[in-house]
Amino acid sequence: LRELMYLSRHDELTGVDNRSGLSVSIDSLLGRKQSFMVAVVNIDHFRGINDRFGQEYGDQVLCAFARRLLSVVDEKDVVARLGADEFVVLIKAVNLQALESHALQLSRQLDKPLELEQFPLQLGASIGVAVYPGDGDSVNALLRSAHLALYQAKKSRNDWCLYREELEQAYSRRVQLEQRLRQALNLGQLTMVFQPQVDDARAVYGYEALVRWCDDELGQVGPDEFVGIAEASGLMPALGQFVMETSVREFSEFVGAQDERWQLAVNISVLQFLQPGFANDVFSVLSRYGLSPKQLMLEMTESLFISNFDDVLAVLNELRKQGVRVSMDDFGTGYSSLSLLRTLPLDELKIDKSFIDGLLDDHKAQNMVASIISIARSHQLELVAEGVETEGQYRALISMGCKLFQGYYFGRPAAFAVEAASRHE
Ligand code: C2E
Ligand code: MG
Ligand code: MG
Repeated sequence: LRELMYLSRHDELTGVDNRSGLSVSIDSLLGRKQSFMVAVVNIDHFRGINDRFGQEYGDQVLCAFARRLLSVVDEKDVVARLGADEFVVLIKAVNLQALESHALQLSRQLDKPLELEQFPLQLGASIGVAVYPGDGDSVNALLRSAHLALYQAKKSRNDWCLYREELEQAYSRRVQLEQRLRQALNLGQLTMVFQPQVDDARAVYGYEALVRWCDDELGQVGPDEFVGIAEASGLMPALGQFVMETSVREFSEFVGAQDERWQLAVNISVLQFLQPGFANDVFSVLSRYGLSPKQLMLEMTESLFISNFDDVLAVLNELRKQGVRVSMDDFGTGYSSLSLLRTLPLDELKIDKSFIDGLLDDHKAQNMVASIISIARSHQLELVAEGVETEGQYRALISMGCKLFQGYYFGRPAAFAVEAASRHE
């Protein structure tokens, strides 16, 4: 009987508590004066690990991760696994002042490489924290609060976040956006706008396609907000397809199919890139509208490369073999920029707008821009400065040796119909 009892409360794979074991522990703490903390811990990109190295290896990682968690907490505290790569740490006595240091400590310990049989593995983990009694007075309420905080933490990955009330509003907005976005995709309510890219003589050499969504009830929703939601809710394939197809079609109508001087830049999300057949889909859209692969620049952000590195590399090579070019967007904001340059076949860097913003009065931003320019040179990469808003920024960039630009100073994103009208003014 004892053994049965044990089995019913523990996770078979890792030996830590399971959900019912955790519930029993939390239940026993409810109703007391003492605060305690429930932290939901989720391994970043775990699916990538499973896909790439196989289930057996994935299991080893989970076991090692569970051991790591056990090593961080006190003996009286509890570690549980709720499913897949989702763990919970219950810290039984916390004083609210020390909360932050508990969470930080947890986060730091999880940052260290795990020792595995084959090779050590550096993982990231995101942590959502809820505290009794403020953030919930039952097992379910506490776990729900912790999950809302986890979602927030996941946005920046490898981070932790404490539950707070605004997360409720953020959550309902997300749910609402997801529903409306699904509808918008079905009803064709999304559109593309195009922002000119210019050279040092201010002549337009291409356009970046940017997606727009205006909802009847919610008004304009920015892509920064809904692209992430599309990724998290399985809508990205549909959104990505819409973006690629519509951009290429509208661009080719605007510039005329035979004119190969112009470039079209399209933003590609992590998930799109890893869809089976992505490269072929791109080629087939291009040929359908008579565009040369050389005219297409795919913009991607660094997050893409952190997991599934080899898969990404293979797709990149496939695309570039046909002449499609690849740009690293928001360059300088991620943490692995430099090492990626060594290993990835790229054609262009886009200096992030945040550095251009500070260009005229912030020495750090200035230095950053100068280094990025010299990095691009030494790697023989094209370089675009994005978010140029003033004459002053433009001049400063020119004098630093930058040759390609994009920003409100040269033109805002607009539908090609508007663009065409302004040409004939
Ligand atoms: P991004 O690719 O870095 O795009 C540049 C963003 O900066 C665009 O915002 C553009 O409108 C804005 N911008 C350009 N010049 C200026 C300027 O001078 N001043 C200011 N303040 N802003 C400027 P947008 O359209 O809101 O897009 C935001 C982000 O959403 C994009 O950043 C991109 O990461 C993502 N995104 C947009 N369209 C798509 C898409 O079709 N597919 C995917 N996967 N992501 C997209
Ligand atoms: Mg971009
Ligand atoms: Mg950017």
